[in-house]
Amino acid sequence: MAKNDERNTQKTHAFWAPVFLVPALALGAAHLWRAGNAGDAAALVLGALACFGRRAWMRPVFFAVLAGEWALTTQVLAHVRSAMGAPWMRLVIILLFVSAFTAAGAFLTWAAPGRAWFARGRETALMQAAGFFLAAVPFFLMARHVPHLLLLERILPGFGAVQGLFAGFWAAFVCGRLADRRRATRTRLRAWRLFSLVFFGQFALSAAGWSLFAMTGEMHVPVPGIILAGMLYRGTAGFMPFLFVFSVLLAGAAWCSHLCYFGSWDAWAATAMRPSKHPGPLRWRVLSLVVMCAATLLLVICRAPLASAVACAAALGLVMIPAAAFISRKKGWAAYCTMICPLGLLSCVLGRLSFWRVRRTSACTSCGACTRVCRYGALDMERLAAGGPGPSCTLCRDCLNVCPHGGLTMRWLGTGGGGGAEKAFVTLVSAMHALFLFSAMV
Ligand code: SF4
Ligand code: SF4
Ligand code: SF4
Repeated sequence: MAKNDERNTQKTHAFWAPVFLVPALALGAAHLWRAGNAGDAAALVLGALACFGRRAWMRPVFFAVLAGEWALTTQVLAHVRSAMGAPWMRLVIILLFVSAFTAAGAFLTWAAPGRAWFARGRETALMQAAGFFLAAVPFFLMARHVPHLLLLERILPGFGAVQGLFAGFWAAFVCGRLADRRRATRTRLRAWRLFSLVFFGQFALSAAGWSLFAMTGEMHVPVPGIILAGMLYRGTAGFMPFLFVFSVLLAGAAWCSHLCYFGSWDAWAATAMRPSKHPGPLRWRVLSLVVMCAATLLLVICRAPLASAVACAAALGLVMIPAAAFISRKKGWAAYCTMICPLGLLSCVLGRLSFWRVRRTSACTSCGACTRVCRYGALDMERLAAGGPGPSCTLCRDCLNVCPHGGLTMRWLGTGGGGGAEKAFVTLVSAMHALFLFSAMV
């Protein structure tokens, strides 16, 4: 009875959070609109509508936005007071009103009404809020300083903040799903495939002449293995290697399980079958790297014209990709990624410098369930007995998701304990995925 009363009181209190929060955001939007900033105003209005989703992660986000808005209004107020030469009374009254409303909204969002209103998904609220900021803030900055890099800015100038808002929402959503072991594997594969579809969709549109969809305007054959050979042939690097190295240093080999636009198709093909024993995920790729470099150098030495080099690359791709997809479907492991792609090999090697490791815990019962889901040839019973997966691990977390005993965990490099490593990893890859998805342009 007492619990019911408490719950009813909480529900009544909860109502006060949106009562102040929505008008406070609307006032901020009106101010931005008057200042000629329609895009940011639209982002605030959309944000205000989102509060009816009642997700717990939105609470810190709204609090930060309102606190920022309040601080800004107070600053403007102080500025007006200090320049009292002109008529100022009306402006001061309006700003005081906005300030008070925004402060009340911020307070109620953080206090009990906010806690009761934003009640859904409390367990992952902080991770999701961090994912939101990590994905949205870079877009907000880009909208200010390099707007031409944002697709929405090119279609609707001034509306880049809305693209950032959606990127943040998507990061928070994916983060919540990836944190849920029952949904994580399915979510990873679907989100990854969506990114790939968007990437290739934009690639096709820009190849068809719609320059609107090209970020840099530099077209390349979008097959990771061939990109490497192309760089060697041209003797120039471009933007891609920097993006790759930076991403792999941050997120480790998760590049090959969450972020690469190409690997999702190989992973999808592999889901047709339960994985069989892998013949060796590193040595085949070393061989592939050597052959690819040798063939490219031969083309350079023979001064083969660009058209011939591109024809060779295209022929190679036409043979390799269907063959790999066929093997992936038959064997249940990602054949292109684990036997051919030299970029995947570099990702595994360079990924050893990142923070993240999958390790066995004392709770493992050696049931073997995790070894039957690895599609990258990284985990078998011997590896498990030695403490964790081998160097071809892509940090996909499928093995962690399937273990019923908590026999595997994610750890920080060089430490014995977990200490939130998996939460930090999930937050980071969700944000990076959203960043890639919402700027997936060639
Ligand atoms: S192995 Fe190559 S194709 Fe596969 S995900 Fe990694 S970089 Fe992409
Ligand atoms: S880690 Fe989990 S799934 Fe794997 S063998 Fe141990 S108990 Fe089984
Ligand atoms: S060992 Fe686990 S985390 Fe690593 S690739 Fe295999 S299933 Fe994924």
